[in-house]
Amino acid sequence: MNRRAILKGALGGVLGLTLPPLARSAFSQGSPAVVPVSDGFVMLTGAGGNVLVRTASTGHVLVDSGAASFTDAVLADLRGLPGGGRATTVFNTHWHKEQVGGNLAFGRAEATIVAHEKTRVHLATDYYLHDEDRYEKAVPAEARPTVTFFTGEQTLAGKERIEYGHLLEAHTDGDIYVFFRDANVLAAGDAISPLKDPVLDWFGGGWLGGRADSQEKLLKLTNEKTRIVPSYGPVVGRAELQAEFDMTRVLFDRMLDLLKKGMSAQDMLDAGLMKDLKRTFRDPRKFAYDAHKGYWAHHNSLGGEVL
Ligand SMILES: [Zn+2]
Repeated sequence: MNRRAILKGALGGVLGLTLPPLARSAFSQGSPAVVPVSDGFVMLTGAGGNVLVRTASTGHVLVDSGAASFTDAVLADLRGLPGGGRATTVFNTHWHKEQVGGNLAFGRAEATIVAHEKTRVHLATDYYLHDEDRYEKAVPAEARPTVTFFTGEQTLAGKERIEYGHLLEAHTDGDIYVFFRDANVLAAGDAISPLKDPVLDWFGGGWLGGRADSQEKLLKLTNEKTRIVPSYGPVVGRAELQAEFDMTRVLFDRMLDLLKKGMSAQDMLDAGLMKDLKRTFRDPRKFAYDAHKGYWAHHNSLGGEVL
């Protein structure tokens, strides 16, 4: 170890001792990092999926509850936040395990769990996971959403305006956004994907057309000051959302054109589906395959020219 590294290590030790608990937990191994988002808002990242927390002495409001294996760590982080540990409201942006794993603990503590009705239905029944060729078991009753809706913009009654609504088929069949309008903080779930490849759970109801429409809807909610929290990756702003929407539209249009020529997902990749995009996909084949499947589920609404 050279002198510089030793100095850095020593400084890290000093920082570790002097940082307040909230910042220190960001450096600990194996538990979610607490990342500031905006006044009164933090994001727990590394809990399976991101958990957005609106801190309040009257009870925290959470968007998503992380994967089940991180529940104890999430609860410990919450206890360290201003206002103490109690969560009174938990939103689920969709029904994937990385977003609902903490529901059981919060539901048992009598938090209100808010989600789209399709999310409740998924969690209340055994459902098939196509990629893993198995059924995921229904969750216990206490872990299921207690307040649900089908369509329209919703507002949660309270001192501040918390608006939420459906993002139709953006990633699954039960995606929602949650918009803290007064604070201008928007939880977008997995309808945006600033870090990972965009995921379209085609078997669970997501497709590229739904994703494009949903991102356009999110753009309408935001301005240049909005802080946008995704299910994975860092907090982003409107410019990043706009860039992702532009890419989604390009992919949607290209794929529709190529589909009309009768192409398979591999044909599309060979024909330049991903050419000159502003970002690189780690697994373009998976993306193309999943997106392609989604088009076939929607072929009735794509006009008469689709083979
Ligand atoms: Zn998901």
